[in-house]
Amino acid sequence: MLKIVYHEDYLTDYFTSAAESPLRVKAIHGRLQDHFLTVAPEAASVEDILRVHTREHLESVQREGPEVYRTALLSAGGALGAARMAMEGTPTFAVIRPPGHHAKRSSYSGFCFFNNIAVAVTSLLEAGSIRRAVIIDFDMHHGDGTEVIFRENPAVDFIEVRARSRERYLGLLELKLRWLGPTDIIAVSAGFDLYVRDWGGLLETDDFHYLGYIIRQAAENKTGCRCFALLEGGYFVNDLGKNALAFCLGLSGEPPSVTCGEPDDDAGIWPEP
Ligand SMILES: [Zn+2]
Repeated sequence: MLKIVYHEDYLTDYFTSAAESPLRVKAIHGRLQDHFLTVAPEAASVEDILRVHTREHLESVQREGPEVYRTALLSAGGALGAARMAMEGTPTFAVIRPPGHHAKRSSYSGFCFFNNIAVAVTSLLEAGSIRRAVIIDFDMHHGDGTEVIFRENPAVDFIEVRARSRERYLGLLELKLRWLGPTDIIAVSAGFDLYVRDWGGLLETDDFHYLGYIIRQAAENKTGCRCFALLEGGYFVNDLGKNALAFCLGLSGEPPSVTCGEPDDDAGIWPEP
């Protein structure tokens, strides 16, 4: 069964862009809590953060104010908790805030402060719990922080797909998952801003179910079902809950009603926003 990581303090009203509203996590957790068991995380420690980020970076997040700093530590802690549960074979989705995939070792942007997925994966690698990891990022925006952090690290593969049509997007991701190399865990940066009514204007709600399902299948085949996903973007608040639920149902192993064929070859590359 899939589990959810969530904490009321993710609703902390710290200073940030209006788009990155606490209503996002509230909407998602409100929808998921009746379907899945929720586990509250503990905050990440300074040591956890310093496995990925410089001390200067940590201090600059501290200077953003105690609300931001505390919530960012709790968000990274949610990622660590999700990774731990995944290691026990329980697929987990962490409804965390702030997001993380734009944060680099010594800089941050795009509503992100600490790179939650990098903190979680690095913790498992350094503890010797895993030797290899795959990170899949299906947020609309390039996971530049995650890519840069792991660029020189042969233990971590970073997978992103860009396509102009939903058929090609899903088909390409399915192909990449089919040809996945050996890995001990699958970590997912789950953004819902590719949704048709969100900024990306591409994927339907059913597509997030399909995405979750093919990731689940890859995890069953490759890792003994060790997989976890962390919330990144997604700004069309009205439908965030149903999109996250669709993804989680897929990730929990419920087959989607609609499947997708092979990608066609004439579709182009999705331009960076
Ligand atoms: Zn995004």
